[in-house]
Amino acid sequence: MSGAGGIVVGVVDHLADLDPEQLAAVTAPRGPVCVLAGAGTGKTRTITRRIAHLVEGGQVNPDQVLAVTFTARAAGEMRSRLRELGVSGAGSSGVQAQTFHAAALRQLRYFWPRAIGDTRWELIDSKLPIVGRAARRARLATTTEMLRDLASEIEWAKASLIGPSGYAAAAVDAGRDLPAPVEQVAQVFAAYEAAKVTDDGDRLFDFDDLLIYTTQILTDDAGLAEEFRSRYRCFVVDEYQDVTPVQHGLLKAWLGDRDDLTVVGDANQTIYTFAGAQASFLLNFSREYPQAQVVRLVRDYRSTPEVVDLANRVIGAARGRAAGTRLELVGQRPPGPMPRFAEYPDEPAEAAATVADIGKLIAEGVPASEIAVLYRVNAQSQVYEEALTQAQIPYQIRGGDAFFARTEIRQALREITAAARTADAAAGEDLIDTLRVLLFPLGLTPDEPSGAEAKSRWASLSALVELAEDLRTHDSELSLGGLASELASRSAAGHPPTMNGVTLSSLHAAKGLEWDAVFLVGLTDGAVPISHAIDASAEAVEEERRLFYVGVTRAREHLRLSWALARNEGGRRGRRKSRFLVGLLPTCERCSSNLMGSRALASGLCDSCAGVPRGSASARSGVAARAATMPLAPADAALFDSLRQWRAAEANREKKPAFTVFADKTLREIATSRPAGLHELKRVSGVGPAKLERYGDAVVAIVASAAVPAT
Ligand code: ATP
Ligand code: MG
Repeated sequence: MSGAGGIVVGVVDHLADLDPEQLAAVTAPRGPVCVLAGAGTGKTRTITRRIAHLVEGGQVNPDQVLAVTFTARAAGEMRSRLRELGVSGAGSSGVQAQTFHAAALRQLRYFWPRAIGDTRWELIDSKLPIVGRAARRARLATTTEMLRDLASEIEWAKASLIGPSGYAAAAVDAGRDLPAPVEQVAQVFAAYEAAKVTDDGDRLFDFDDLLIYTTQILTDDAGLAEEFRSRYRCFVVDEYQDVTPVQHGLLKAWLGDRDDLTVVGDANQTIYTFAGAQASFLLNFSREYPQAQVVRLVRDYRSTPEVVDLANRVIGAARGRAAGTRLELVGQRPPGPMPRFAEYPDEPAEAAATVADIGKLIAEGVPASEIAVLYRVNAQSQVYEEALTQAQIPYQIRGGDAFFARTEIRQALREITAAARTADAAAGEDLIDTLRVLLFPLGLTPDEPSGAEAKSRWASLSALVELAEDLRTHDSELSLGGLASELASRSAAGHPPTMNGVTLSSLHAAKGLEWDAVFLVGLTDGAVPISHAIDASAEAVEEERRLFYVGVTRAREHLRLSWALARNEGGRRGRRKSRFLVGLLPTCERCSSNLMGSRALASGLCDSCAGVPRGSASARSGVAARAATMPLAPADAALFDSLRQWRAAEANREKKPAFTVFADKTLREIATSRPAGLHELKRVSGVGPAKLERYGDAVVAIVASAAVPAT
C-alpha cells in the first residue's frame, strides 16, 4: 500500500490518549478490522481516530473514505469528531460520514440517469398514504395504528430482503407479531409495491428502495461499479450490530471483491432486531473475513465505576448468543454517586420529582444540555414536557417524530420543498438568507418574540436554520433542494436538530450518545420490557433488556431509575416495577427490603427500620410530588373538574396540548385558593402575564360561579 511509510504529520495527536487495544485497532493496516466492545469503551472514538491516522499517514486519500452509521444524529457526531481531527473539511471534500440512507440517496441520484435512463423517481417522505390505499383494497381497517403496523412489516421485510411473494412464509417463520392475518398483510405489501409505479411509469421510492436500487445498480452495471469503487476505497461502519441484510448487501456492493472495511459494534446493544437488524453480521465478521484483525475493548471511559457496576449486572442477566459475547466492563473514571432508585404513586408524581431533581442538578452546575430523561415510548414524554414547562426548564425532544411533527416545522418543510421546486429559486442568493425569508411568515422574526406559543415556534424555526447552517459547513454548495431532501431524511430517521436544554428521548434514539446525568423513567413491567415483547417471546424480552442496558450506559455520572404504580393521579396502583430491576436495588441491612430514596441509601436502612414515620416527606422523594397527589375536598374537586373541562375546550380551539394552557398543578392551586380577581390569580404559580391576559377573565369567571365549599 503506497504511503504507509510516508511522511507522517500530526499522527502523534491521533495516537494520544489511546489504550493499547484501541491503539492496535487504530494502527492496524488497511484491511478488515472488527472492534467488538461494550458501551463507553471508545468504539466511536477508535474508528474516527483510525480514519484520521490512515489519512494523515498517507495510507488513504480522505476523499476515498466513506464512514456510515444508522442515525443522522450519530453521523453528525462522527462528522464533528472527524472535523476536530482535521480530516473532514467543508464542502464535499474530505472524509464522508453519512447514514446508509443518505449515502445511498446521493449515489442513486448520481447513477440513476446513467444506469436506468429517463424514468424519473421521487423519494416519498411517508409511506402511510400509499399503505392506506393498499390496506383499503385488502379490506383492512385504516386506523393510524394499523397503518403504522403494516408499514413496519413492509420495512422489516424489505430490510430483510424479503419480497411480497416470500413474505407470508418468512413472517410466520420469524414469529412476527402481525396486525392482521398474514395473507392480508402480504396482499397489502404487494399492492404497496405496485402502487409505487405511477401511471406514466415514474417511480416513487421509500427509504429502503434507496438501498435496494443502489445495490442493484452496483451489482448489475460493472462499469458504474468500477467507477464507484475507484472513488471510494475504504469503508467504516459504526454500530455494526444493528446492520440489516439489505444494508449488508449494499456494503458488499460498495466493496466488490475488496476487504477494506472496519466495523465496530456491541452485540449486547442490538436493539433493532424487530426491524431486521442481525447481530450475526458482527459476530460472524471473522468468518466472513478470516484475515480480519479482531480487537476487544473492556475499559469503560464514559461512566463512573458505580454506573459501570450496575450496567454489568443488567447485562449479566442476559441470555442468548449476544450475551455469550459480553465482556465485563471495567470503569476507568473516578468514583461518583450511587445510582438511585425511586418508586412513585403515579406518573405526574414521578415527573414532578424527576423535574425537581433536574432543577437541583442544574443549580449544582450541571448544564441542562448534559441532562437526559429517557423513556421507552414517545407517548411517555408528555408528562415530562408538562412538568418541565411548569418549572420553566428548557428541553428538546429527540427521536420519534416530535420535532418534525410540530406544525411550524411541517409548514416549513412544505415551504422549503415548494421553493426548491420553482426554477432557480434563490439562484445566487445565500441559502441561509433565503431560508430566513421563507420562514419569516411562519414566525421566524429577527428577534425572539414574547408569548410562550410564539417563543416555541420561533425556537424550533431557529433550530431549523441552525441545522441548515451546520449542514452548509459540510457542503458549501448545499442548495434548497439538497436541504429539503436532507430534512426529509432526518424526519424519517427521527433526528431533530440540537437545541440547548434537557433532552427528552426514547431509549432507542439515545443509542451512542452520553450525558452527565440520565433519568431512566417509567420503568414498569409492560413498558420495559414492553408488553408486546412479553407476549411475543423470550428473545423479544432479551432485546428489551439490551435496550435497558443501552439506557443505563448513557450516564457518565448521575443515574436515576424510577417508575410509577399508576398512570394518573389517584389512579389504581396496578403497575409493578420492571422485572429487569429485580435484584438490582440495594436492600435494607436489617430486613432486606429494597432501599429507595437518598436517606435510605445513605444509611443502608429502610425507612421503617430507621424509624422514619410513614408518610413523612422523605418516605418518597419529592415533596411537590406528594402535594400534587393529595386528594381534593369535594367542592374543590368539582371546581378542578370544571377548570379542566374549560381547559380541554380552550386547548382544542387553539389546537395545542392542554398543558400549554395551564398545567394540572396550576389548576389544582386555582381550585383550592379560589382567586377572587386577576390580582389574586396572578399570584398562583404557573400564571404568567401572558396567560393572565389571555385566560384570566375566563378563569376568574369559572371560580366565581363555582359552588362555595361547605365549612
Ligand atoms: P457506545 O457503545 O455507547 O456507542 P463507544 O464505545 O462508542 O460507546 P465512545 O462514545 O467512543 O464509546 O467513548 C465514550 C467516552 O469515553 C467518550 O466521551 C470518549 O471521548 C471517552 N474515551 C474513549 N476512549 C478514551 C480514552 N482512551 N481516554 C479517555 N477517554 C476516552
Ligand atoms: Mg459509539
